[in-house]
Amino acid sequence: MIGRLRASRRLLSLASVLAAILLAFAATAVTAADFPPKDSRYHSYTEMVTDIQATEVAHPDIVHVFSIGKSYQGRDIWAAKISDHVAIDEGEPEILFDALHHAREHLTVEQALYLLHLLADNYGVDPQITNIVNASEIWIIFAVNPDGFVYDLTCTGSSHPPYCAWRKNRQPNAGTSAIGTDLNRNYGYRWGCCGGSSSNPASILYRGPRPESAPEVRAVRDFVRSRVVGGIQQIRAHITFHTNGELILWPYGYTKANVPADMTSVDHLAFYRMAKAMAARNGYTAMQSSDLYVTDGDQIDWMYGTQRIFSFTWELFPTETSTVWGDHYPADEYIAPQTARNKSALLYFLSIGGCPYASVGLGVANCGPFFDDTEISRGWGYNPDGTDTAPAGGRFWRGDPQPTSINGLRYQPDTTVSGRYAFVTGTAAGPRTNSNDLDGRTTIRSVPIALPATPGPLSFWYVFAHGPSSAADSLNVFIEDSTTTRTRVWSKVGTSAIVGATWRQARVDLTRWAGKRIRIVIQATDGSPDSLVEALVDDIRVERAP
Ligand SMILES: [Zn+2]
Repeated sequence: MIGRLRASRRLLSLASVLAAILLAFAATAVTAADFPPKDSRYHSYTEMVTDIQATEVAHPDIVHVFSIGKSYQGRDIWAAKISDHVAIDEGEPEILFDALHHAREHLTVEQALYLLHLLADNYGVDPQITNIVNASEIWIIFAVNPDGFVYDLTCTGSSHPPYCAWRKNRQPNAGTSAIGTDLNRNYGYRWGCCGGSSSNPASILYRGPRPESAPEVRAVRDFVRSRVVGGIQQIRAHITFHTNGELILWPYGYTKANVPADMTSVDHLAFYRMAKAMAARNGYTAMQSSDLYVTDGDQIDWMYGTQRIFSFTWELFPTETSTVWGDHYPADEYIAPQTARNKSALLYFLSIGGCPYASVGLGVANCGPFFDDTEISRGWGYNPDGTDTAPAGGRFWRGDPQPTSINGLRYQPDTTVSGRYAFVTGTAAGPRTNSNDLDGRTTIRSVPIALPATPGPLSFWYVFAHGPSSAADSLNVFIEDSTTTRTRVWSKVGTSAIVGATWRQARVDLTRWAGKRIRIVIQATDGSPDSLVEALVDDIRVERAP
């Protein structure tokens, strides 16, 4: 407003009048995209960017600010990394937070800024926070939906000016004047599957014309995928801030089933324990996302379903009111108490987020240098030497085993150790041929694994089932070191006995490779064409030293 008055005193010519009018419009537009004086403690998009960048300037050793991409209208989607040695990727476990998928959920930006300051301003002061920042790499995306953020403060004619109660992004939709996609229904996992979104562009729950049609969703997707380093997703845990309801939600949203086929029972228990532990600290209510209402194409389903990240939705203050205005526009006096209220829950999450399995007592087993429950791809190479002789249908593939029985004896089990999938020779999940018997050799090789100075053991579960057989049939495990020398560390060979499908666990000492980078190589061989051989491997770990 001050800038406009000064300009008006200098009006001398028609040209300058026109220029002043244009300036006035520009000034009005800028002013309108801010909060009203009564809510001035909320950060506008511009004020948010200023605060993030000032925090980086004040703490350059531990805060790095960057953009993960652009919104539909070309605004940056700002993020920060918080860690010691922030400029380098140290291979520490990573934890992600994001805010403002939905435009009107302004308290979520305040929660993200609170978290940034909690970590940055207390580093080197508070020992617990110092340890968290030293031990992990923390990412915060401050406003996934900047266009909606800005637009929501421009409805001067609304019943609660300048607020629009806007939810979606600002992307036009072909064939209609209805604007926007619900970003939290646009992710590419079970998109539109289950009645948890709308196909109507006018709906506030519009899922978009196709999965990941919104540039904001693609930016988040691409950032998360960029954290797959050496075949392994580095982000272990994630919270997306929404309003409202004072809830902590875990996946899935698309189904009411507690442990569907695309979730392991141990993961479900970890979700449950972590959600309950957070809720005990901030007084929220913990539940499965679909217990609130069914959603499909939402972010946490995608994060867990495709990346196996322990992903939670927090619905912030307040509990449900009867109106959209009461739900999403608490007065700015609530910002400080309602963000600080979550300090203890956030610190718990930051402390356990690097190893969510610690919540179920499996930190040593599952949070070592390598853990693959084989439910998603973790970078194994198939036929890495190019010398495998088994037909395509008989080779190792990651898939859902199909029970195979001959004369009442089961050779291939219909169960895995965890979840849906295992590495299976001749599973129907691989390319099928007329015969899915192994008949030859098949090999898989892991990504490189960096062993610490004191490594725990290699452990894995296996089935090696065969009919009357000989030593020509085998299941072997090798350790390959950086010079590509392979050492056989474990072996099962065929015998004249008939051996059915039973899951057993094997453990191999890795002390001689301490401090080295290794790969695990698993090879099954069916060397006697008349015998039936089935080999399966699941839950492959390099454990932490106990
Ligand atoms: Zn929301």
